[in-house]
Amino acid sequence: LVDIQGLSRSFGRSPVLDRIDLRIEAGEFVALLGRSGSGKSTLLRVLAGLDEADAGRVTLPKRRSIVFQEPRLMPWKSVAANIALGVPNARASGAVALALDDVELSHRSEAWPLTLSGGEAQRAALARALVREPELLLLDEPFASLDALTRLRMQGLVRELWRKHQPAVLLVTHDVWEAVTLADRILVLEDGRFRREVHVALNHPRRRTDPHAAALEAEL
Ligand code: ATP
Ligand code: MG
Repeated sequence: LVDIQGLSRSFGRSPVLDRIDLRIEAGEFVALLGRSGSGKSTLLRVLAGLDEADAGRVTLPKRRSIVFQEPRLMPWKSVAANIALGVPNARASGAVALALDDVELSHRSEAWPLTLSGGEAQRAALARALVREPELLLLDEPFASLDALTRLRMQGLVRELWRKHQPAVLLVTHDVWEAVTLADRILVLEDGRFRREVHVALNHPRRRTDPHAAALEAEL
């Protein structure tokens, strides 16, 4: 579904992404770890089409959606209108209602974004992504600004929605536990390259033979 070869991106002189390769299969859940400033958001922005790579071959699905750390809703439009934005017929066809139902936010459909709680606003942002029926869902630390309990709930929700809709997911997080519990595979970005790749999911075919998986679990 995603096939990237030799992707590079520099700002000024320093390369942030240095000839990285990445393949993601349809329906796969991949977590991306890495220190602050390691280039995780840069990679997601390139994949979302919000930024351009300097070099590399990139194959991507057409339908991609990104959710940021902050919800980025337009305050002058209702929640439902935010979700429908740019998707013709989304309200009339009932797609917005379904997406709101998916994120358990039907009761706030007509609310103004500024009246939502942090968790509700992030759920609205998630619904805005889902209504586009993404084949690739890009999540850039979507739970980072939420309290621990809300985060736990959001993690469960994302996993549930992933099972239901089967998009490929690339989730950026600083939370190793979150990566381990949600993803099939964990990538660690360091100095512009993927330094480590860990197969986590119980059912992942390579897990049993992956020495990093055991090591990472031991670290936890
Ligand atoms: P964090 O975990 O803090 O979100 P990150 O891994 O997402 O970090 P990026 O936002 O991708 O890191 O940034 C990687 C590096 O590229 C940083 O050093 C950042 O300052 C730099 N950078 C990102 N965008 C730009 C830009 N538009 N112009 C100049 N430098 C940039
Ligand atoms: Mg970032």
